[in-house]
Amino acid sequence: MKFLCDQMLGTLAKWLRIYGFDTFYPNSEMNDAKLLEISKNENRILISRDKRLIQTARRENLKTIEIKTTDIDEQISIVLGDIEMDKKKVLSRCILCNTEVDVISKKDIEGKVPERIYNNNEKFWFCKKCNKIYWRGSHYEKMFEKINNLS
Ligand SMILES: [Zn+2]
Repeated sequence: MKFLCDQMLGTLAKWLRIYGFDTFYPNSEMNDAKLLEISKNENRILISRDKRLIQTARRENLKTIEIKTTDIDEQISIVLGDIEMDKKKVLSRCILCNTEVDVISKKDIEGKVPERIYNNNEKFWFCKKCNKIYWRGSHYEKMFEKINNLS
């Protein structure tokens, strides 16, 4: 299952990536026609707060989810409500660029993360596109709580 969030749904896009879903987020130069084209070509469910964009997408037989609320928890629940969550996929994707992250050995990141984080974690991941390093700290547990509270 792949998604495309419109420009107004940046926070939702970030959360969908945290949960491991392939989520396209457009840059500010992309117009509606471009979003429709990407949804169609890459078979992505188009998520939008723009009623007109949703209507156009439906006329073109694209799968859509219309968002009316600005509450992020409600937004996540609307999109992922019925989908079974795979905990292994949480944090498997770069939050910034949507690339799947790779495991990196602990010795390779010495000096690249704060010492406290280095000492308190054994497993690390990195994004080969933006070189961002990820670990499953306390925020990881909080994400599980969030998932559980939603379902
Ligand atoms: Zn990245």
